[in-house]
Amino acid sequence: MRISILTIFPDFFSSCLNEGIIRRAVAGNLVAIEAVNIRDFATDRHSMTDDRPFGGGEGMVMKPEPLAAAIRAAREKNPAAPVILMSPQGQGLDHGKALELSREPGLILVCGRYEGVDQRIIDRYIDMELSIGDYVLSGGEPAALVVVDAVVRLIPGALGCGESASSDTFSRNLLKHPQYTRPREFEGEAVPDVLLSGDHEAIGTWRFVAAVRRTLERRPDLLAGARFSREERRILAAEGLLAAVDAAVAEHGRGRDD
Ligand code: SAM
Repeated sequence: MRISILTIFPDFFSSCLNEGIIRRAVAGNLVAIEAVNIRDFATDRHSMTDDRPFGGGEGMVMKPEPLAAAIRAAREKNPAAPVILMSPQGQGLDHGKALELSREPGLILVCGRYEGVDQRIIDRYIDMELSIGDYVLSGGEPAALVVVDAVVRLIPGALGCGESASSDTFSRNLLKHPQYTRPREFEGEAVPDVLLSGDHEAIGTWRFVAAVRRTLERRPDLLAGARFSREERRILAAEGLLAAVDAAVAEHGRGRDD
């Protein structure tokens, strides 16, 4: 996968993309990531990328010409990539969207600044507007970084030995079970016995039940999309959780369909 990030602050990305899983994925040639300076595509003497809004009002708007030229250049290198504008007005990024994007051959992420970008860029060049949440950031760079991180870890092979995205929160429409490491006892609180038992089946069952219990407590809406095997339903019944799970599915499933 090739990810091109179009920004007026390319240095924003230099340290973050050079750490951990992203750095490893780049080193392993699973992904190539470039931060492209939109300013390099400005043609006036001062390399202006913004101008005053027509109709008056506060703030500045990103000018269309440098942005269009930057997108065209990125498309040449990354022809099959959707062009995605980071925007608080876009569709929300979630696990499903990140998974979908991780299967693309490339991504072109456009970072807005100021009051945003000229509407004609959106009309003519943008395939999708993507938001990372219902709040307004000062620029698209932190949002693009969130997208890159969420997507890259889902590229097969990006996570190292012993790491897996398959039991991560959201992957089965469940929150992940609680986790413990050494020491066995910390400030008087001991690790649950079953985790020290070496009985992998019992540990798997405990983790599954703990994940469902936590999801019921914190995010029952997720359960509307969860699927359970017959054996898992039997376990949930034995733990006294099945009725609550079915009630959450009925409530939030109905909500989603409405
Ligand atoms: N004036 C715009 C509005 O009210 O919709 C907000 C512009 S914001 C200050 C500047 C840039 O930050 C946006 O163009 C966008 O690229 C980025 N941005 C802000 N909030 C975002 C969010 N929640 N998700 C993704 N990008 C965001």
